[in-house]
Amino acid sequence: MIPSVLPTYNRAPLEFVKGEGSWLIEADGRRFLDLGSGIAVNALGHAHPKLVEVLSTQAQNLWHVSNLYKIPQQEKLADLLVEHTFADTVFFTNSGTEACELAVKMARKFFYEKDQPERVEIITFDGSFHGRSSAGIAAAGSEKMTQGFGPLLPGFVHLTFGDLDGVTNAITDQTAAILIEPVQGEGGIRPVPDAELKALRQICDEAGILLILDEVQCGVGRTGKLFAHEWAGIAPDIMMVAKGIGGGFPLGAVLATEEAASGMTAGTHGSTYGGNPLGCAVGCAVVEEVTADGFLEEVNRKAGLLRQKLEGIVADYPDVFEEVRGSGLMLGLKCKVSNIDVVNEGYEKELITVPAADNVIRLLPPLNLSDEDVAEAALRIEATAGGVRIGNG
Ligand SMILES: *Cc1c(COP(=O)(O)O)cnc(C)c1O
Repeated sequence: MIPSVLPTYNRAPLEFVKGEGSWLIEADGRRFLDLGSGIAVNALGHAHPKLVEVLSTQAQNLWHVSNLYKIPQQEKLADLLVEHTFADTVFFTNSGTEACELAVKMARKFFYEKDQPERVEIITFDGSFHGRSSAGIAAAGSEKMTQGFGPLLPGFVHLTFGDLDGVTNAITDQTAAILIEPVQGEGGIRPVPDAELKALRQICDEAGILLILDEVQCGVGRTGKLFAHEWAGIAPDIMMVAKGIGGGFPLGAVLATEEAASGMTAGTHGSTYGGNPLGCAVGCAVVEEVTADGFLEEVNRKAGLLRQKLEGIVADYPDVFEEVRGSGLMLGLKCKVSNIDVVNEGYEKELITVPAADNVIRLLPPLNLSDEDVAEAALRIEATAGGVRIGNG
C-alpha cells in the first residue's frame, strides 16, 4: 500500500525533534553533528536566537497580505540585496525551483522585447541541478530527472561541464543565455574555475546574451563570499538564490540588473506567497548577519581549518576518500567506496552529511559553526572513515 506521504524520497531512519546551532537531536536524546544544514539551508544553524526572534515577532503582527499591497519587509530585503550585490532589482519566490522559472522567463522576455523573439535557447551543463519543475528538469536534462516526464519544455542546449569550446560553438542567433552554477551542488561539489567563469562572462558579452547564475546552493556566504561569483570578479545579469537566504524559512529570489529585468513589467509575473512578511523578515535577518563585519572572514577561517583537517583524513584513508573539493564551507569528499555507505556510517557516528552525484559526500555545515564544531566534525569524519574501512574488511 502506498504510504500516506508520496514515496519519492529514500529517507534515512532518523527523526529529529530539536535543533541547536550545529546539532540535531532525536527524541531519545542522541545528538548528531549537522554537516548538511538541511542541504545548505540552515546557514546560521538551528534555532538561531535572532532568527527565532524576528520570526516570532513577525508572526505576532502579520503573516500574509499578498503582493497586491506594499510589503515593507520585502522592500527592506530587496534594498539589502541591491546594496550588497550586482543587482538593481529583486523578485522573491518560495524556492529555488521558482527562481529558475522566473530566470528562464526573464531571459526570454528580454529578447522578446528587443525584437529578437527567436532568442529562446538557454545553454546548460551536465551535472547541473536547477529544481524539479518542468523548466528545471528540462534545464538540467539528466535522464534520472526527466525520464517519463515528457514532453519536456523545449529550448535548452546541454553541454559537457567545463567545455568552453562547446559553449562558443553552441551559441547561435537563437541563444538567449548561459545558465550555470558557480559551484555545482547536487552534481558533486564541482566548482567552475574562476578563469572559466570569467571566460563565460566574456563569451556572453561578445555574443550579446545573458549570463544566469544559479547560486541557490553556493550563495549567501556558503563559499566565503556573499555570492560565489565574486571570487571570479565577475557579475551575472540574472541570479537565482534560495536555500540559505531563508535560514530554514522557505524563501528564494531572482536578482537582476535593470537591463536584464526590463521586460518584466506589471502583470508579467507573480506569486501568491513570494516575498511574504514572514519569509522576508527572516531573510533580512540572515542577510544582515552574513554581511555583518567579520562574518565572512570567520567563514573563510573555519573553512580553512576544516579543509586542512579533511586533507589529512584523505591522506590517512586513501582507500576511503579520493580528494577534498569545493570552496569555503561548500565542501565535498570524493569517495572510493560507495558514498551512500559513507553517509550511512556517518549516521552510526552521529554525523550528518549529504550524498551528491559523482560518488561525493557533501559537507555543508552551518556558516557560523564554532571551532569546537570543526574539531568535532573532523573527529567524526575520521571515525566514519575508520568504520567504513572495517566494514570493507
Ligand atoms: C536546491 C537547488 C535548486 C532547487 O531549489 P528548491 O528550493 O529545492 O526548489 C535549484 N538550483 C540549485 C543549484 C539547487 O541546489
